[in-house]
Amino acid sequence: MKVKLLSYTPEPEKVISMAAKLCYSAVGVDDIEKNLTDESIDKFLNMLINIGHESPLEHVSFTFAVEEISRACSHQIVRHRIASYSQQSQRYVKLNQFEYIIPQEINEIEEAREVFIDAMKKDQETYDKLVDILFEKHYNNLIKSGKNEKEAKRDAEKKAIEDARYVFPNACETKMVFTMNTRSLYNFLDHRCCERAQWEIRELATEMLRQLKQVAPILFKNSGPNCVKGPCPEGKMTCGEIVSIREKFKNL
Ligand SMILES: Cc1cc2nc3c(=O)[nH]c(=O)nc-3n(C[C@H](O)[C@H](O)[C@H](O)COP(=O)(O)OP(=O)(O)OC[C@H]3O[C@@H](n4cnc5c(N)ncnc54)[C@H](O)[C@@H]3O)c2cc1C
Repeated sequence: MKVKLLSYTPEPEKVISMAAKLCYSAVGVDDIEKNLTDESIDKFLNMLINIGHESPLEHVSFTFAVEEISRACSHQIVRHRIASYSQQSQRYVKLNQFEYIIPQEINEIEEAREVFIDAMKKDQETYDKLVDILFEKHYNNLIKSGKNEKEAKRDAEKKAIEDARYVFPNACETKMVFTMNTRSLYNFLDHRCCERAQWEIRELATEMLRQLKQVAPILFKNSGPNCVKGPCPEGKMTCGEIVSIREKFKNL
């Protein structure tokens, strides 16, 4: 899995502090900015988050590029609606040999790995066969309708791959770029750093948080699963590992 923080709003902690202070202040942003210090930003942001005044967090966004994740994982990511997404298209990109993600639990058992890889090979063969069959049908129709050979070939291939891709599995590798504001990221990290989230999105969320802490340490110092901030809210579903989980996220 590759995770890269591509860009973010400059001076994220200062921007949020200024926006929030403006709500409670008689003076304008110039005066607010003059009086800001690292210490006052730290104190103010902590207070803001504790009282739940979260809308100023929306002024700051972070953009990530993620590669080598499965479509199963990307499907979980895009359930987070307060975000913007761009994902590699299987409609426009023909996959001559699709890449796939093997879950570790499968990879470490030889027999399971073989069954898995065999299924991937069969999927690719089926895709190739369907592309050929569909291409021929669309190409002939397009020629009949008066398209020249070059255009017919281009359009027939596109039409063929957009239907053939239906045989691709959840394991299929994908790439995406997404942008979330800080408020939405808090929600994403609360849920997806938790042991209850699946391993792949949890690995992604944890690496995102590690990178976020480097550029905005005050904003993200208490981020991670909910148990980092208070008691575990998962009830019977708790992992029961609260001490080690808190330690892990404190030292991320
Ligand atoms: C451990 C785990 C298991 C899961 N299992 C399942 C499952 O079995 N099936 C399944 O379908 N999903 C499942 N999900 C996905 C989950 O239900 C959410 O869709 C996902 O976590 C996105 O969260 P969200 O809606 O809070 O995020 P966002 O869509 O980013 O929304 C952020 C916040 O905005 C507010 N909001 C957004 N849209 C609306 C709206 N239309 N109305 C009111 N408020 C809104 C809410 O306060 C929301 O929390 C699971 C998630 C986790 C973490």
